[in-house]
Amino acid sequence: MIVAQRKIIPEILEKLKYHKKILVLGCGTCVTVCLAGGEREVCIIASALRMASKLHGYSLDIEELTIERQCDNIFIEMAAEATERNDAVLSLGCGAGVQAVAERYPYKPVYAGLDTAFIGILEERGVWTEKCIACGECVLSDYGGICPVARCAKRLLNGPCGGSKEDRCEVSPDRECAWQLIYRRLKDIGQLDRLKNIAVPKSWNKSRDGGYRVIIRDDHRI
Ligand code: SF4
Ligand code: SF4
Repeated sequence: MIVAQRKIIPEILEKLKYHKKILVLGCGTCVTVCLAGGEREVCIIASALRMASKLHGYSLDIEELTIERQCDNIFIEMAAEATERNDAVLSLGCGAGVQAVAERYPYKPVYAGLDTAFIGILEERGVWTEKCIACGECVLSDYGGICPVARCAKRLLNGPCGGSKEDRCEVSPDRECAWQLIYRRLKDIGQLDRLKNIAVPKSWNKSRDGGYRVIIRDDHRI
């Protein structure tokens, strides 16, 4: 899932300074799961903004709404009337959601209430870790399902750098060396021979270095 975290209230308040009526728009998908932008967080941020604006001597009129997904026009449509009623939208969607809402309502100011961080998983209660940088050409199958691109600090594809100490990454000693994990995993599944293959340099032109990327599925186009 996409993992994000809430911006601080003073920062949000500053962005909203031109407006009196705000729609705080939550998203019911990834950012709900990572506790950043779902229905509960909409309620919390709306309350905090009401209180903060009063402390600053004015009063924000805030409407709350959460839609299923902010990155999908079918669901964005459900926010049309609420968007119309308000001066601006504070989106608690990921970066894609914020932009999708802004594109759908071109004359309405749309602000980001979250900092979108990465694609990751819930590791333990309250802890999310990055697992994928969406490089565009997945090599997980060659590495036992552990991504050297996202999880090795040096993105090494052909074995460890040699700097790890006691299974820890030399760049970030608080983390396990990704290559230690890859080795262990390939051993556990009886595929250590994969390490004999020399990985050719990865093609980064499918990554985001060439600008934003597009996927077209002709079988889904009308
Ligand atoms: S190889 Fe690329 S697409 Fe696959 S998990 Fe790693 S970063 Fe993500
Ligand atoms: S110690 Fe391991 S994870 Fe860290 S940079 Fe070297 S190979 Fe990558």
